[in-house]
Amino acid sequence: MRLRNRVALVTGAGQSRGIGFASAMKLAQEGASLAIASISESIHEREGEMTKLGYRSIAFKLDLTNFKDVHRMVDAIIREYEKIDILVNAAGIGPRKNQATAFKSFLEMTEQEWDRQIAINLKTNFNCTKAVLPCMVERRYGRIVNISSVTGPRVSQKDLSAYSAAKGGVSGLTKTLALELAEYGINVNSICPGFIDTGREADRIGGLSTPLKRAGKPEEVADVVLFLASDEASYISGEDIVVDGANSIQEAKGTADKLY
Ligand code: NAP
Repeated sequence: MRLRNRVALVTGAGQSRGIGFASAMKLAQEGASLAIASISESIHEREGEMTKLGYRSIAFKLDLTNFKDVHRMVDAIIREYEKIDILVNAAGIGPRKNQATAFKSFLEMTEQEWDRQIAINLKTNFNCTKAVLPCMVERRYGRIVNISSVTGPRVSQKDLSAYSAAKGGVSGLTKTLALELAEYGINVNSICPGFIDTGREADRIGGLSTPLKRAGKPEEVADVVLFLASDEASYISGEDIVVDGANSIQEAKGTADKLY
């Protein structure tokens, strides 16, 4: 019960196999009271699952790109729980072939598609962080964990310019905030997942070429979220923690045994 008496807001927790929900469950298992948010009705199913297990959880369905709605949500959480100690910014839309706006060559991308990707993957982070900070600053305590990606900060793929730019932005924002908020007892870190099996075939296939020869599990990212959200990580701030099964550090990709 490392997080007894802590209150956590986890965004992007609407999918049962997603990184956000796995993180919310880990924090709840360690005693935190949870607020979870996502854009669709699925968030209420996740809330039901948590409540059934005896965890304290309230759900919010909203578009986190909307600044005013995010502030209304945070006000409601503080009315219910009186504070927010931990913010996990997991909302985002990763690369999915069936999502035209995520996978698009830069040459063909429209301004609207660029703006939407940046809004979902970066502005959501700005909105939520901005909204929770007054409470954290006042109480001189906070843990902010941003779910960035290896895509952008470390590596990239063709047709992922907007996603890469947004995630590079998340990791950059993390460093600046770590510096600005240190004096208030607020630690800010990012996690950069690689191929994580959240139900998409592409991630499972991508995982096969990693040194560990499999995609990561959402719980393996959530374990790092829990660590960064806990008091054990009190001297870590402004860092990108890569969780990718050693994939992005490979010099030879999947061919090392044939080289020499
Ligand atoms: P996911 O299961 O699809 O989770 C994304 C979540 O974000 C969903 O719960 C979705 O809501 C929510 N969301 C999207 N747009 C939103 C908006 N405008 N307002 C509110 N909520 C919104 O995907 P995931 O793979 O777990 O991704 C979680 C985070 O990890 C993302 O930031 C992603 O970029 C990052 N990441 C994932 C991987 C990977 O391999 N899976 C790798 C690197 C980074 P609904 O559930 O209601 O649709």
